[in-house]
Amino acid sequence: MTLTFSVADLTIHRIIEQETTFLPALEMFPELPPEVLAAERSALRAAQALDAQDTLILCFQSYVVKTPHHTILIDSCIGNDKPRARPVWNMKTDDSYMRALAAAGLSVDDIDVVMCTHLHTDHVGWNTRLDNDRWVPTFPNARYVIAQREYDYWVAQNAKAEVPAFADSVLPVVDANRADIVSDQFAIGDHVRLLPTPGHTPGHVAVAIGRGRDDAVFSGDLIHSPLQLCYPELSPKFDVDAAQAAVTRREFLDRYCDTPTLCCTAHFPSPSVGRIKRKGTGFACEAV
Ligand SMILES: [Zn+2]
Repeated sequence: MTLTFSVADLTIHRIIEQETTFLPALEMFPELPPEVLAAERSALRAAQALDAQDTLILCFQSYVVKTPHHTILIDSCIGNDKPRARPVWNMKTDDSYMRALAAAGLSVDDIDVVMCTHLHTDHVGWNTRLDNDRWVPTFPNARYVIAQREYDYWVAQNAKAEVPAFADSVLPVVDANRADIVSDQFAIGDHVRLLPTPGHTPGHVAVAIGRGRDDAVFSGDLIHSPLQLCYPELSPKFDVDAAQAAVTRREFLDRYCDTPTLCCTAHFPSPSVGRIKRKGTGFACEAV
């Protein structure tokens, strides 16, 4: 399995925590017509994006990007010891994530910046780890970058009813003065930029990396499954604003289609990374 990619002056590592069945396709995508699923079934199965029961297979992973100046972790995945509704995420104690980090030749001390595309459970989990019954930042030398609009949205949600992932994986980082709550114009030197991509959540951002051009882009949850390449209008039930998410998804795919930019998806099954090509009225992701 390909876990490391090089493009221009960047090295990109995939840090996989889980790659497993998620939800039935028809449940994940409430607007998915059964005949569309039927038409795509064999291609999705061949891509290992769908199992024999029509359940979607997703990868849950972080990316680490080494630029000439920084080591940047994008989205910190699921995490351990956290009370979660989903059984395979609940109070887990395995070492898959830390082993994957070590296999990439990295330790938690090496990460300079943690960037959050958005603040859902499976993107912030390893922001913190349990230490003597307290949540502490997992990456002791890192600044944690969160978009202002996204942060404000979850502050408001958490005020109505506690959001576990926000309470145990975001607020402790803020309280430890490790967070940078940033505008959409945030950049790190000439290598790292945010691309506002609202819809899945109100402040969702993609992260574009490369000197003066987008050598790679990290799409977060603006897209979940290769099925949405063929049908970009399909929004999963988790999208806060499904109509906006559909517009954002097509704009993103149009922007990067037939360009050299390496598209690093959060949840596509392995290899998860490829280049976007036009295919019919939709798109395809060509492995590299
Ligand atoms: Zn996700």
